Amino acid sequence: MAKRDYYEVLGVGRDASEDEIKKAYRKLAHKYHPDVNQDDPDAEEKFKEASEAYRVLGDEKLRQQYDQFGHAAFEGVNGAGGFEGFGGFEGFGDFGDIFDMFFGGAMGRQARQGPQKGADLRFDLEIAFEEAAFGLETEIELPRTEVCPRCHGNQAEPGTPIHTCSQCNGTGQVQHVQQSAFGRFVNVRVCPTCGGEGKTVETPCRECGGQGQVRRLRKISIKIPAGIDNGFRLRVPGEGEAGRRGGPPGDLYVFIRVRPHEFFRRQGNDVYYEMPISFVQAALGDEVEVPTLEGSVKLRIPEGTQTGTSFRIRGKGIANLRGYGRGDLHVVVKIYTPKNLTAEQKETLRRWGESVGDTVQPSQDKGFLGRVKDAIDGFGRKD
Ligand SMILES: [Zn+2]
Ligand SMILES: [Zn+2]
Repeated sequence: MAKRDYYEVLGVGRDASEDEIKKAYRKLAHKYHPDVNQDDPDAEEKFKEASEAYRVLGDEKLRQQYDQFGHAAFEGVNGAGGFEGFGGFEGFGDFGDIFDMFFGGAMGRQARQGPQKGADLRFDLEIAFEEAAFGLETEIELPRTEVCPRCHGNQAEPGTPIHTCSQCNGTGQVQHVQQSAFGRFVNVRVCPTCGGEGKTVETPCRECGGQGQVRRLRKISIKIPAGIDNGFRLRVPGEGEAGRRGGPPGDLYVFIRVRPHEFFRRQGNDVYYEMPISFVQAALGDEVEVPTLEGSVKLRIPEGTQTGTSFRIRGKGIANLRGYGRGDLHVVVKIYTPKNLTAEQKETLRRWGESVGDTVQPSQDKGFLGRVKDAIDGFGRKD
């Protein structure tokens, strides 16, 4: 099923203000929140869809990326995932976070004994200008934690017993009652005996030392779509650190840095190339070879071309990230001034100058260093 447009999901126009987007999302979040729609199986999907749309459109930077590239801005890795982590519907739409905000999330969270998702990882990848233009399949190598293959994460040497923790009775938490001027508080802390695991092992696993996880250097294949640009990040789902207690692994984020090209510059999907031509070529016209991202093409410079003139070569720019069309190559000509002329060449130019009404005094030039020397001499002289 095609993914719905985020603006359509929230029911706002493309020019909606930040405030309108926020209001639209709030209305939908109330309407479809799973807690109040337990009989409606579609509500949760709609809630997630609205939350995802808001996470993008509610963020100025992500909204810009979305406006430029559509859903493609957040897709493209192994056919799944995207450039940003919109895994679940965390953030504004999740009451859990608001709850944590008021009641101190750390307390409830650390003591929680259920499965825990692994941490996300970041990998910085530098690619060449052409690789960004045409896409790239590559392998990266990074260290990460993985579930121990020997004990499968349960921390005990295979075949040895695992006991329920006697201090917390398997809950992973201990309660601590505190009296203060404001009354009586019940503090919940992570069980110090089992570290929140709720169990203790007799013989720790040999491979992981009882950690349940091991550190590995892992090679991961990634596919970078054509048209990616500096500053984008790719999400590779499930390739982060291992989860705990059967929880899923985190995600891997590949941050892309594109090396600048020696002579091409990029703007959006268009490429700019500054081409030096001679004064004679500009005046009389010529056919020149222009380098492109793939081979060279011929370009006709018309007679009387001024410096700074730009010629557009269609379709020789960078692929659209969404997969259709390509940008253009703009060739900006720069007329260079000849140097180190022979006496004869200078004379020719002087005569030409006179023919169009420019008079140029024959050069008495001592060169730049000579003039500097004169200036210094003049400064120090006492009459
Ligand atoms: Zn192990
Ligand atoms: Zn315990």
